[in-house]
Amino acid sequence: MKQRVSSKVVKEAALDKLKERGVTIQDIADIVYDMQVPYNDKLTMEQCIDSVYKVLEKREIQNAILVGVELDVLAEKNLLSEPLQSLIEKDEGLFGIDETVALGSVLGYGSIAITTFGYLDKHKVGIIKKLDTKTGDGGVHTFLDDLVAGIAASASGRIAHRLRDLEDKEDELNFIDEEKIERENVS
Ligand code: MG
Repeated sequence: MKQRVSSKVVKEAALDKLKERGVTIQDIADIVYDMQVPYNDKLTMEQCIDSVYKVLEKREIQNAILVGVELDVLAEKNLLSEPLQSLIEKDEGLFGIDETVALGSVLGYGSIAITTFGYLDKHKVGIIKKLDTKTGDGGVHTFLDDLVAGIAASASGRIAHRLRDLEDKEDELNFIDEEKIERENVS
């Protein structure tokens, strides 16, 4: 029986793949900031970077990166069999598996992550745009652009839900305060 692959090995491999393919944590955090700052004027870049790291801790996301980048690299080296080679190399619009793999990695982060993914897929912000237009210079990034959109969308969803949790907690505290004041006024 083959030995189990440790989480640490998978995580490091996924992070290395992103780096090797020219995507930095900062590139992804920049997208997260753009997506979330309209809803949260106190948002900092540190929070975005932190959220990207947290998302990259998830095994589903790491696995998606490993699968997607591997296929991009094999297509770049012309090592896939036809017709898959052409479908991935030419980033054939109807292929769709690149989006499906990335979308699958987003599902754990709720509806905000899913709608943000849809937006990024359509509007191609920041590094996603660069990767998308890189096709043709020998580099294949058919999966990578969607993976980056997936990571950014998950990190955005995570921030949005955490902000909501904080606001709910504040509301609760304010409510308790008001109750206390009322009680004190009565007595
Ligand atoms: Mg794609």
